Amino acid sequence: MPLDLHAHTTASDGSFSPAELVAHAREVGLRAVGITDHDTIGGWDEALGAGAELGVEIVPGVELSVAYEGGRFHLLGYYFRADSELTRTLREIQAARANRNQIILDNLRRLGVPLDEAEVLAFAGDKGVVGRPHFAQAMVSRDYVASTQEAFDEYLADGKPAYSTKAVLTPQRAIALIHEAGGVAVWAHPPRSGQYSLPELEARLQEWIAWGLDGLETYYSSYTDAEAQWTARMQKQYNLLGTGGSDFHGAPKPHVKLGVTHTGKAVPDRVLDELKARRS
Ligand code: AMP
Ligand code: ZN
Ligand code: FE
Ligand code: FE
Repeated sequence: MPLDLHAHTTASDGSFSPAELVAHAREVGLRAVGITDHDTIGGWDEALGAGAELGVEIVPGVELSVAYEGGRFHLLGYYFRADSELTRTLREIQAARANRNQIILDNLRRLGVPLDEAEVLAFAGDKGVVGRPHFAQAMVSRDYVASTQEAFDEYLADGKPAYSTKAVLTPQRAIALIHEAGGVAVWAHPPRSGQYSLPELEARLQEWIAWGLDGLETYYSSYTDAEAQWTARMQKQYNLLGTGGSDFHGAPKPHVKLGVTHTGKAVPDRVLDELKARRS
């Protein structure tokens, strides 16, 4: 039975609660599902409980935002200990987010499109990390903009007038924290990291490998053929672990189906054993 090692829940910006996500994983016939919320492990406990009940194996993970040489990247951590410096660092990042959200609220007010904190929180759900997608949804519901994409393009995207930077780790520090906690570090969807050419990405990959990177996503729901071929080539050339998944979010990305990658299929079963073999 197949796998999906990249999915989001209401603990970050997904629309399925952890238990709902696990139930859905069972429905679509997955053996295991990775819980990889943005900068939080808040979905783990509920997912592990539901997984034990429904017979779906839970792969505990996180999707970290990392900043490097002016670029923003996503780094997945799997199987790290919850009692760790990494988890403590995630809590600090969460606290920094609260300040940042106040700045975004102030900016929106100044720009003549005020929101109440409560309406933004309502879109985030009770245990959710509040992020820009939730501001965008609140702006749509106020009819300030026609779509969440318009909210980003006009106000919230990096460099736009309501934007405020967020605290992030460097990839080097993030890889070290993941390893120190016994986990496995995987570069998420490298070709989807912004405006980098493939040779530029390969140069970064070589540095990240020197810092201990374990793998990269060779399966991803929205890869083009060229992107899939490039990541597969990098994985083989540098002898990395090749993981992946759908990046399921539920309603925020309705076209992405749990358990479906660019191949039209799920991630093959053997990847789970390879991932587990890298734990320490
Ligand atoms: P945050 O964690 O608050 O910085 O929000 C990051 C999320 O906002 C990303 O995961 C995307 O879902 C979304 N996002 C960021 N930039 C854009 C953009 N230019 N257009 C649409 N969505 C974006
Ligand atoms: Zn997301
Ligand atoms: Fe991502
Ligand atoms: Fe993701």
